[in-house]
Amino acid sequence: MMISSRRSFLKSLSGASLVGIAGLPLVGAAADKIKPSAYSALIVVDVQNCFVTNGTLPVPKGEEVVPIINRIAPVFENVVITQDWHTPGHTSFASSHAGKKPFETTKLAYGTQVLWPDHCVQGTEDAALQKDLKIPQAQVIVRKGYHKDVDSYSAFEEADRKTATGLAGYLKQRGIRTVFVTGLATDFCVAWTAMDARKLGFETYVIEDAARGIDLNGSLAAAWKQMSAKGVKRIQSSDIALG
Ligand SMILES: [Zn+2]
Repeated sequence: MMISSRRSFLKSLSGASLVGIAGLPLVGAAADKIKPSAYSALIVVDVQNCFVTNGTLPVPKGEEVVPIINRIAPVFENVVITQDWHTPGHTSFASSHAGKKPFETTKLAYGTQVLWPDHCVQGTEDAALQKDLKIPQAQVIVRKGYHKDVDSYSAFEEADRKTATGLAGYLKQRGIRTVFVTGLATDFCVAWTAMDARKLGFETYVIEDAARGIDLNGSLAAAWKQMSAKGVKRIQSSDIALG
């Protein structure tokens, strides 16, 4: 049997026990879905007013992730939310660099930095979580990018690649082994978070339709390539068992 037809064959045997067929540890049609466990965490990256329509740095169709995240979140016992949380005059803002415009780059002490419009300034309505996000069971909100001279796309480690946010310790101390990353933007904060999760030893999924990209000069395709090379698994929200 061709591999491609095996899955549909298994599906056709709905309800039958399939343990042992071809050595695959599959049990019925539900084996197609991924079931988050008590050792899994959903990470919701930067679903804030700044990154959706009418925000200061809108990701195209960014708000579309909200109903998808709301739909899958209830099956996760552990949820972490992140917030981009910059000082006024932050080094990632083009306005902090004479002669620079948003989306240009500059060299900072820790490397090349993309410069952005002023966004997600601490305590502003722009930096608040998008109002329709409904995840009351979320246990921790990690704020990042609050050091004035260092950006932080990743929820784990700032852009100097030295300063930890503490999230890895939090997850590891609680026995979390698998993370599912969603949110904004796929090619920046989601990708960096996912790749750092892999580096830290977590099994890592990015739920593609629960994320949206900025796609600056091909950055979205490049991010998927890099994530894949690091062992990040690309799935859709329909791959998660919601029952
Ligand atoms: Zn930012």
